[in-house]
Amino acid sequence: MEGIQGMNDMGRVIEADRAHVWHHLVQHKAFETADPRVIVEGKGLRVWDAKGKEYLDAVSGGVWTVNVGYGRESIARAVYEQLLKMNYFAGAAGSVPGALFAEKLIAKMPGMSRVYYSNSGSEANEKVYKMVRQIAHRVHGGRKWKILYRDRDYHGTTIGTLATSGQDQRAEQYGPYPEGFVRVPHCLEYRKQWDVENYGERAADAIEEVILREGPDTVGALVLEPVTAGGGVIVPPKGYWERVQEICRKYDILLHIDEVVCGMGRAGAWFGYQLYGVKPDFVTMAKGVASGYAAISCTVTTERVFDLFKQDAADPMSYFRDISTFGGCTSGPAAALENMRIIEDENLIENTQKMGERCLGNLTALMEKHRIIGDVRGKGLFLGAELVADRATKEPADEKLVQQVVAECGAQGVIIGATNRSVPGFNNTLCLSPPLIATADDIDEITGAIDVALTRVFG
Ligand code: PLP
Repeated sequence: MEGIQGMNDMGRVIEADRAHVWHHLVQHKAFETADPRVIVEGKGLRVWDAKGKEYLDAVSGGVWTVNVGYGRESIARAVYEQLLKMNYFAGAAGSVPGALFAEKLIAKMPGMSRVYYSNSGSEANEKVYKMVRQIAHRVHGGRKWKILYRDRDYHGTTIGTLATSGQDQRAEQYGPYPEGFVRVPHCLEYRKQWDVENYGERAADAIEEVILREGPDTVGALVLEPVTAGGGVIVPPKGYWERVQEICRKYDILLHIDEVVCGMGRAGAWFGYQLYGVKPDFVTMAKGVASGYAAISCTVTTERVFDLFKQDAADPMSYFRDISTFGGCTSGPAAALENMRIIEDENLIENTQKMGERCLGNLTALMEKHRIIGDVRGKGLFLGAELVADRATKEPADEKLVQQVVAECGAQGVIIGATNRSVPGFNNTLCLSPPLIATADDIDEITGAIDVALTRVFG
């Protein structure tokens, strides 16, 4: 395809990559003999590797990121023009795109009012943990310092955020961790922990049980993904969020929603929490904010929380003493502004709802043919199919075979994902999250490839 340089150049790129790049999440011993997939170009939902092979990307850049698709000239131009004018000036100085994006973002989030910029989802979450700890010191006399997180949720890769990893495989061997982070049970109804009718409420009540055990006056915040991503695409059951909100209000616990994956339309609303009528105190977002065209993340909060950090101008310890050198670097909000315009002007949220339903329907239909699929679930273009060796016992399918399904889709030119090295014993869910511009044909191509792959691997 045009634009890709000669194969000789690409051979050099592959050799340089093999020789010098330490890749994320890769066991490099196995990688030494494998051919690295160097992606060199993208347009719409399609990407091309260094050998010129074309793929339909059904995972938006691997990790739910490229919401508006590849090759968006208008975003590249917005960043280019901004960088020529003003690339960077530190923290306290404002920037034109920083101010305008914050205004546009807050208009989509009734009840919220302040945006704190950083560079990654992990950082955005860690900022909240620091704010919660500082509120504990300043407002609660040192109490309310604990932060609750949920089994199977993930909030980032730093030591602080790994202390809230509900995915044990991510956190193992990096401890010891800081104190004050306490786990609550997950809410996946397919794998019931309580035999009750109103499962959503029961799963939320389990959070209250932890609060009571720890002591309500020690608990400052609860962090949750609206729909759990890497932990297995867990859609909360009916009644869950309403009860969670009630519990947080009852015990004066700040509710932090991690929208790093769900935000910016992915789940079929601007933000996942808006599907459930939740009123959070903190919302964090990253991946889809600029669709991977620039590094940007946001910690968004209410005026009530913001006020706590400006009450006493004479006290040098009273404000949020935090800086992130590149947080709010102008390329991020410049890209984010244009990214948001595209989502609005191209009605991508409506498209996500429609295409998400189509995809869920196709996956549900595949259950009739493939007994290996135990459950399908999702919201918007954020979907999962859990593979089980036995539908009656729900024994998870062998994760090597699950990876083989991913590879068989890749061989057909469709990149899908799977929960991978996250929850021990449960790396068995195929994950789909195509860019929000997907058409009906794209969706059918994705689920068609899964159909063929399942037949090849499981018969
Ligand atoms: N929160 C969630 C829900 C995520 O899925 C991730 C990353 O996958 C993060 C936070 C961390 O984001 P980042 O990798 O940008 O630090």
